[in-house]
Amino acid sequence: MEIERIILRQIKMDLLTPFTTSVGTEVDKDIILVEVVGKNGLSGWGESVSIVQPMYNEETVKTNWHIMTDFLIPLLKKEPIKHPDMVLPRFQFVRGNYNAKAAIEGAVWDLYAKSQNLSLSKALGGVKDKIEVGVSVGIQPSEQQLLKQIDGYLQEGYKRIKVKIKPDWDVSVLTLIRKHFPQIPLMADANCAYTLEDIDHLRRLDEFNLMMIEQPLAHDDIIDHSLLQANLETPICLDESIHSAEDARKAIELGSCRIINLKIGRVGGLSESKKIHDLCVKHDIPLWCGGMLEAGIGRAHNIAITSLSNFTIPGDTAPSAHYWRQDIIEPEVKMENGFISVPDGPGIGYEPNLSLIERLTVKQSTICLC
Ligand code: MG
Repeated sequence: MEIERIILRQIKMDLLTPFTTSVGTEVDKDIILVEVVGKNGLSGWGESVSIVQPMYNEETVKTNWHIMTDFLIPLLKKEPIKHPDMVLPRFQFVRGNYNAKAAIEGAVWDLYAKSQNLSLSKALGGVKDKIEVGVSVGIQPSEQQLLKQIDGYLQEGYKRIKVKIKPDWDVSVLTLIRKHFPQIPLMADANCAYTLEDIDHLRRLDEFNLMMIEQPLAHDDIIDHSLLQANLETPICLDESIHSAEDARKAIELGSCRIINLKIGRVGGLSESKKIHDLCVKHDIPLWCGGMLEAGIGRAHNIAITSLSNFTIPGDTAPSAHYWRQDIIEPEVKMENGFISVPDGPGIGYEPNLSLIERLTVKQSTICLC
């Protein structure tokens, strides 16, 4: 599976509906796609989850392009990559920049799986042939609109509902949701909107029988979360704070969380995701796969990693039509009765729609590794 060249494309896609969290609103998305072309003529595909503003982490589409072209791809020239597990160690010279690293590494994994004639799921050690699907509901203009949205999603078959919360959009909203939907699997994502001073306020959320509260405190914290978890009955799930298996180990040892939201882009790729998965198996910490409003390529990678055994909680990998008028893969990701089938074709198991990708491309560069 020796790599011959890498094609970077930046595409622009409109979201079907704007998505609002406690940190901002997104209406469209610039996305970097990585195509790794092997000397065997096969192509592996990856997608960066970075957005144009550094509001989830420090990376942006622009910094990704710079880091990929000036540092990461040149590092692949040194010696041939024989297995995708070699990619992240090769990138060690570059600190952070996990989204950029993961996009390239994911494409190498896809190329590797295709070269072995294996599905990406099987290449990663996946065991499931379908995955449970949850949905994330952004902050809505009114409570009535939120209830209507939740009701619609339940009718569509989603297995759990996640709502975004912030200090003035939490107790009243959760009270209302529980009044109308007392039994649904429900969780709340705070995207770092609270501090330890809110500890008494956050304890009030225990009464809502939430599956978890996701990332209530700072994006770079694991210490304060351990203090908060000791004072809460509801499990804390960490998202933004976990960038590696080492971070996960420290958070688990400190008791900072009882659940982890894994995002491939946030941890530098699929090899690190597997390490976190295996560590969590050892410590009996369930996982689920978070979403970053991915287009089809990133969505396909999420499906593959979710097929591993310890992803026991429904993730955010909703079908393509939930986000996009037309997705960039064929077939699109579809949901049936709250499940998405894990493809068993080689690699990611979906074909990139090249003519659509070409139409959406705003910037392109080819780098030869020869
Ligand atoms: Mg989150």
